[in-house]
Formats: sequence, C-alpha cells, structure tokens
Amino acid sequence: MSVTTPQDLLTDARIRLGARPETKEDAIREACQLLIASGCVAPEFTASVLEREKVANTFLGHGVSIPHSLGKDRDLILRDGIAVLQVPQGVDWNPGQTARLVVAIAAKSDSHIAILRRLTRLMQDDMRLSALFSTLNPSELASALRDDTAYSATSPAVDLAQTLDWVLPYPAGLHARPASVWVEAARKSGVRLQVRHGNDTADPRNLVALLSLGLRQGDLLHLSADGEHARDALDRFRQLLDSLTLQERADAQRAAVQTVPTAGAWVPPGQPVAVTGIPASPGLAIGVLHVLAKSHAEIPDLPVPLDQGADQLNNALIATDQQLAALADDTARRLGEAEARIFKAQRELLKDSDLITLACQIMVEGHGVGWSWNSAIDRMACKLAALGNPVLAGRATDLRDVGRRVLMLLEPTLQLGSLQDLPDAPCILVSDDLSPSDTAAIDMTRVVGLAIAQGGPTSHTAILARTLGLPAMVGAGPALQALRSGTQGVIDGIGGKLYLDPSEADLASARSWMTSEAARRDAQKAERSQAARLLDGHVVAIGANVNLPSQVPMAIDEGAEGVGLMRTEFLFLERGETPDEAAQFAIYRDMIKALGNRPLIVRALDIGGDKQVAHLHLPQEANPFLGVRGARLLLRRADLLEPQLRALYRAAKLGADLSIMFPMITSVDEVLTLRAVCERIRAELDAPQVPLGIMIEVPAAALQADVLAAHVDFFSIGTNDLTQYTLAMDRQNPELAPQTDSLHPAVLRLIRATVEGAARHGRWVGVCGGMAGDPFGAALLTGLGVNELSMTPRDIPAVKARLRASALTELQQLATHALAAESAQAVRALNGEAA
Ligand code: PEP
Ligand code: MG
Repeated sequence: MSVTTPQDLLTDARIRLGARPETKEDAIREACQLLIASGCVAPEFTASVLEREKVANTFLGHGVSIPHSLGKDRDLILRDGIAVLQVPQGVDWNPGQTARLVVAIAAKSDSHIAILRRLTRLMQDDMRLSALFSTLNPSELASALRDDTAYSATSPAVDLAQTLDWVLPYPAGLHARPASVWVEAARKSGVRLQVRHGNDTADPRNLVALLSLGLRQGDLLHLSADGEHARDALDRFRQLLDSLTLQERADAQRAAVQTVPTAGAWVPPGQPVAVTGIPASPGLAIGVLHVLAKSHAEIPDLPVPLDQGADQLNNALIATDQQLAALADDTARRLGEAEARIFKAQRELLKDSDLITLACQIMVEGHGVGWSWNSAIDRMACKLAALGNPVLAGRATDLRDVGRRVLMLLEPTLQLGSLQDLPDAPCILVSDDLSPSDTAAIDMTRVVGLAIAQGGPTSHTAILARTLGLPAMVGAGPALQALRSGTQGVIDGIGGKLYLDPSEADLASARSWMTSEAARRDAQKAERSQAARLLDGHVVAIGANVNLPSQVPMAIDEGAEGVGLMRTEFLFLERGETPDEAAQFAIYRDMIKALGNRPLIVRALDIGGDKQVAHLHLPQEANPFLGVRGARLLLRRADLLEPQLRALYRAAKLGADLSIMFPMITSVDEVLTLRAVCERIRAELDAPQVPLGIMIEVPAAALQADVLAAHVDFFSIGTNDLTQYTLAMDRQNPELAPQTDSLHPAVLRLIRATVEGAARHGRWVGVCGGMAGDPFGAALLTGLGVNELSMTPRDIPAVKARLRASALTELQQLATHALAAESAQAVRALNGEAA
C-alpha cells in the first residue's frame, strides 16, 4: 500500500487560486493540467476524467467537486496526487450545482482517503469553507486540507435499534466507488440506516458523510437500522457490502502488482516520475528516450499498367525474401536457430497465394501497386487478429511486419517508422509495439533498453530482449504515448519501470547499481561450473533446457550439468515437415555426443496448446490448451509416437545417460499405456531400459503424484503449464500476465504434493518450467524438496550462486512460510527476508 503523505499528495504547485473557467469542462481541464504538469498523470488522464463525468456525478456538495478518472484508466496515474482549483465566482457543475473548489484526484491507492476525509469534514464547517473559496493565500487552503486536528467529535455516538458489527474488508478502504453503491442501497432500503466507526457516525444515504468517516481496511464498523423490517434491511445491506469485496480486492491486486517494488529492483533515491509496465528482461539502463512513431503513413494510390504492377510486386517479393533469408542467417548466428525461426516463418507468409491474389485483385480494380499490397496486408491481418486466437494474432503482427518490408521496396520514399534515425547517444526505445524483425535488427551499440506499450512477458519481443540481454518492460499501456524523444530515462527491466528525468543523484545511484550488478554477474559466472552445493552440503542437480545439439556447448559453458528438458516439438515446428525415425535418431545421437557423459532428458512430442504444427493438419479445437495436447495426442497418433520412441531407444543403445519423459499426463492409464508401448519397442530393438518419467503440469497429476509415482521413474514439473492450469489463466494472455505467477501459494502446494508423492516411492523430482530459472523460485523449489532444476542456460549462473549462498534448512523454512502465505505477492515479499 502507498505511504504517500498528505504533503506529497497536495503540493503548493498544484493549487491554483482565482481561476475563472467558463465551463465545467474548462475547470476539469485546468485542474487536470496541474496534475499533468507535476508528473502525477499522463495527458490522457483529462479525457478519462471527462468521460467519468458522463457516467457519475462528482459534485460532493457545499461548492466542492472531486473529479477523478475512470477505474479502468488507473494506469494513467503515475503517482498519487490531488490538485485544487479555486473558482471564487463558481462554475456550473450540474444544473443547480456550483463548484467553487474543484479538487481533482489522481489516486491508485487509498492515500487520497485522508484528504477526502478532511475535505468532507471541512464541508461541515461552512464558515471555514467559504473563507477558502476566496482566500488569496494558497497555504491556507493547503493546510486546511492537510491538517486534521481541528475536527473531533464531541458527544458519544448512539446506534439505532437493530445492530451488527462488520469489519471493512476493502483493501483500498471506503473510497468513492463502493461508497456510492452503499448510498444507492441505503436509499432503496426503506429504513433508516447508520454506519458508526468509533465515535463517528454517518447516514449511508449521504456520500459525503460516508467518505468523511475515512474508513480503511480492517476498521470495525457498527451498522445499525431502525423502522419496520429494520433487521432484514440491515442484513441485506451487509450482504451488499460483502458482495463488493471481490471486485475491490481484484482492483487492489491489479494496482499493487503495478506499484509494489520487485525484489532486487533498483530503488531511485529521489522520486522520479515513472511509467509502470510488466518486467520483461532484467537489468537497468540509462539512455535518452527514442519514441518510435506509429506508422500511419499515407500510401499514394498511383495506378500503373497491370503487367508493370505485377512485375514490380514480384520483384519486391523476391527482394524481401532475400532480405529475410539474410536476416534469418544473421539472427541464427547471433542468437541461435530458435530465434531465427520467426524469419523463416515470415518467408512462408510472403508466398501465401491468398495474399498475393488479393493484392492483384485490388490492382485490377484500378489501384496502385503499393496501395494494393498494403490494403491486402491490412485486410488479412485484421481478419487474423479478429479471430481472438493469440497464436493467429501473432501471425497478424508478422504479416504486418513482412508487409512493411515489401512496401518499403515498392514505395521507397515513404518513412515507415523504422529504426533508422536512432540518436548517437545510448537510447531507450519507446514504442507501441515492436515487430520481431525490428527487435532482432536492433543496433545493440546504440539501443540500451526497451519500453513497449503492448504485449506480455511471453511475447516475442520479450523473449528476444532477454536473449539479447536488453533490459525491457512490456505492457506499459497508453502512458508511453505521451513521452517525448530526447527525454532522459532509466529503464528497469526487473521492476518493470521507466523512470523519467532522473536527478543527478538518481543517475549516480543507477550507475552504481549497474556496476555492482555487473560485478555480481561476473562473480557468478566465475563459479558457474561448480556444483550447486548448499552451505550444508546438500546438492541440487542443474540442467539446461536445450532443443538442439548446436546449443549444448553454450549450455555447458554456462554451467549446465546436463539437459533436463529437450523439447522435441521444435524439431517438428522448425522443419515444416515431420522428421522421420532416421532424422530424429541423428539428432538424438548428436545431442548425446555433444553432452559427453552428461544426462539427457528428452521429452516426447508436446504438440497442441500454443505449439501448433500446421503440417500435421490436426483438427481445430475451441480450447487447444484443454484439448488433445501432449500425451493425449501421442496416444491417438502411433505414427508420431512410435518413430520417436524407436529413434530414442536406438540412441539409448549408444550407451548414453538418456531418459524419456511424457508431457501433459493426467492419469495412471495414460502412463501404463505409454510404458507398454515403450517396453514393446525396447524389446523389438533389444535396447537397454531407460528411466521413464512424466511431466507434472496439470493439477490432477500433482494431486495424484503418490499414485503416479508407483509407475514412473521420475517427475519433472512444468511450472509454466502447472501455473496456467491451476490458476485458470492462459499463459499467453498479456492482460493476465501480472497475475499468472508461478509463486502463487496454490501452485507451491501442488509442487509440495508432487514432492511428497514422489518420496513415497523413492522417486526424484525435477522442475523444468520458468520458475526454476528465477533465483528466488529456485531457492523455494529447493526448500520444497525438488532434486533437479532445469532452465534457460543464461539463468544458470545466478541460480547456482543463490543456492550456494543458502543452507537447506533455511530454504525449507522459507518454503514453509511460502506455503502458508496468502498470495503470490506475499510469497515474493519473503524474498527480501530470505538469503
Ligand atoms: C512447462 O509447462 O513448464 C514446460 C516446461 O513445458 P512447456 O513450456 O514446453 O509447455
Ligand atoms: Mg508444459
């Protein structure tokens, strides 16, 4: 919760005396401008406040109004604050209502309640209030709103005939939104109701009176009523109050996710204005902002003879294909095959016959070639985006990206918002969205960080930024649009914040944070090849999530002791065709060779969900994440399962430390059937036994771990999916990204159940989901009793360092506290307290 003081909330600079707005809208604009100018809110805040006026009356009474923004626009508020416009002549607020003090409120937390309380009490003192309407001294106004001492009740309050006690559960206290619902209910109740807190009472039909109680979460209230049916009415009133709690908690959680400092994040010593988003790639960087304009360029429509137009289009398509091939090649060498995949996919889009036909049809209708191409791209991208499927929406972005490349060749004079005009100084790119090709083509000598309005932590931009080591935040919303190129900023990819106009002291502090962070990373790297041995000797096995033999040397270099997860579906996704047994055998053999004697866990195909393989022509499903995915597909498609198992058992004959595991297991039956197929194939090939394990990634498997453990050799927990299925939150949905948190105590409890179930049969448990690569997550998992952690190679040094600095008993205690915590945030808060 915010600790903003009344002084921070209302500075003298946000008080304007003697204002003369002609209309309510002018008054709102002028008051909001004070908030904008002092960096409390983004410029769009004003529009939100005006919008709110259409749906709610913010006139409190007694000449005071409290305009504020719509709840959904909370992210336009950069920090809590209020601004006061004194209008001595008054301005018409609503028919018959004249405002003389316009108090514009920007508040994400409950900090404005203190001021609102003073304000409403002040309204009960007409003489003092009317003095404020015309005072020439801003301090008088400021101190009247800040000083609470002048008002205290004198006579003890008395309850009405029927009573009940109720503790206010709303995290943000009783603010205007829930209070107005109380008012409406009280007015409809048909009886007299009263709300008492200590010695203060309020008639709940009166919004001012209610707000003036200044109620905060946890306050004990004495609700009372009298009149006929008073008891029933009182009970109904309480039910209504209760029914608002869920929404209030959800709102507060959203706000808290955006405001609670993340452990390990840099905390500036001053209070620079910050735009908040979702952390996407860790690190801190200082630079000038370079804001990429959205490209709404006008495309000239100059028709040319059809044969000429077709030639031009054809040449542009060929040239773009060559560009993309070169980009794929360059990206593969810089970042690896997996990152280059996107450009290979984009080359396929260029060959789409529907797209080319559509462009030609538009040309035939008499339009210019560039215009036609752009319209075709636009229509197809809109169609894909409108389907509401995140995978297809991603294709729409790719389509626009590739379309822009072709258009730049067709209309070379157009400036299409490219990255060509970067400043010479290190810069932070600020953009609504960045296409994958923009991200991969970023000039790393000049760009030091990214701040993106859209997307979630699993978007391509976020993944590429992590791979490039560029600090980044995504999902920052419209507040970014207001920023100007050239402004100095600090991007914090751990806390998900872009700080603006930092002071010299802030900059010095950021530089020293970066220096110590670099030193810390170097120290971690120096010890990365040593085991993750805890202070008391307990050792955790550390593996890498690697899909190709070519990535193995890099993983070993980062400190991997083996491969804990080889996702074989990428062999299918990358090739555009199903690799046969021989092709798969060659890859497994090369993995084994690259690993030497180190262990290799290969996961059988996990197709489905977000990993769709077009050339398998699987039926479309309404809910692919809940459909025929992973083991469910393997059990239906022997043509996919058996060649893979044959290739794996042939590889096992090379004498490797090889294990096989199956994804998306939900039941013992699935395990028994898969084991029987394995055994049949093993016997046919006269291959050795290999350990057979399963992924624990659905709650059903975690809860039945004790039963499943009897039939398998090991478990590997997929926390990415376990989190999505436990919380019922699509792991790809950027809107839910802040809440889709693997540290949620419900997920931790399922991990604990898995470990306990495994222990009953002496099985070991690994984790190969994203949680294993987060040092704090790794510490928790170790405390929960997990034996092996497998992660993105880059994460290994920091995880090893964190584990080496801890004792097992201490991590066990940490795990016990985390299991008992109320929320993921409470678990994260334990981070600062633990080693
Ligand atoms: C997981 O779900 O955590 C996991 C490792 O599998 P994937 O991310 O490939 O679904
Ligand atoms: Mg998974």
